Amino acid sequence: MTDCIFCKIVAGEIPCRKVYEDDEMLAFHDINPAAPVHFMIIPKEHIESLAVVEERHGGVLGRMLVRAGRLAREQGSPEGFRTIVNTGRIGRQDVYHLHIHVIGGPNPLPRMIAKE
Ligand code: AMP
Ligand code: ZN
Repeated sequence: MTDCIFCKIVAGEIPCRKVYEDDEMLAFHDINPAAPVHFMIIPKEHIESLAVVEERHGGVLGRMLVRAGRLAREQGSPEGFRTIVNTGRIGRQDVYHLHIHVIGGPNPLPRMIAKE
């Protein structure tokens, strides 16, 4: 998709700090990290959000999750991590190219979500 910032990263038109790449996914560090380890795993195909995925996306989405633990360990989060997929307006999604945040580090994260 021409106007999508993550598609531009996939295409190499915008630089990123790459964590991992294969033929169907790319992982790169978040530009504004929320914790000592914070990277994103995205499908190379432009999929808008988790709200609109189709059956045919199941394979790559599963493989992105399978990859998360190994990458988290390699990046310095050996004892676990958090995955977040912000989705749509309610989920406060900012970039409409599906991405799995992988967040962690050497120390426990804050509790999952602030209660309002
Ligand atoms: P969200 O859509 O709310 O899950 O968040 C999008 C995330 O993308 C934010 O955490 C941003 O810091 C991150 N982000 C935006 N632009 C870039 C970029 N060019 N490189 C790396 N991360 C980015
Ligand atoms: Zn895209």
